[in-house]
Amino acid sequence: MNFLEERIKKDGIVKEGNILKVDSFLNHQMDIELFNEMGKEFQRRFEGKEINKILTIEASGIGIACIAAQYFHAPVVFAKKAKSINLDGDMYVAEVVSFTHKNVNQVIVSKKFLNKEDKVLIIDDFLANGCALQGLIQIVQEAGASVEGIGIAVEKGFQPGGHMIRNLGYQLESLAIIDGMDAETGTINFRKQG
Ligand code: 5GP
Repeated sequence: MNFLEERIKKDGIVKEGNILKVDSFLNHQMDIELFNEMGKEFQRRFEGKEINKILTIEASGIGIACIAAQYFHAPVVFAKKAKSINLDGDMYVAEVVSFTHKNVNQVIVSKKFLNKEDKVLIIDDFLANGCALQGLIQIVQEAGASVEGIGIAVEKGFQPGGHMIRNLGYQLESLAIIDGMDAETGTINFRKQG
């Protein structure tokens, strides 16, 4: 087991409805030393890629992206969840269905901060159905920039997002991939990674 899998096993809580709660170290209280290890691991996995920008989505992706960014010497841009009244032509816009809240958010990125020269690493905390990633990919494409890679902390491999994104040809690196979990027993099965 790698460092993140071990931490999930120790402190993650499996909830009904295929939700893993990791709010004691990942997305409410944040363990920055753990994030630092994650940043190093992303750097290792994306070695040789020319990356000049990191894109994430508010709120839980931001902390992970910021710590990882120190290893890529790149700025972080986060897609904001917007009210449609705020929208104008200076924004890239995508619609994202929220897995956890079951609603649809419009997410926006200012055109000032993403353009066709950008080589983007997308980072997020979870990958479930892939809606958040699809929205971010759409924004990168709209900007004419390129997606150099996608780094995820926790992929729920039994949900379709990972398969879908890899089938599109992207280099998707998830630090922990969960192939199954059980709310009753609390067991979590991780996919073996090379
Ligand atoms: P997707 O768009 O891939 O369906 O879901 C990704 C987003 O949903 C993530 O950004 C994350 O905020 C949230 N999410 C999905 N599954 C879980 C989960 O099991 N636990 C937590 N804490 N968040 C999740």
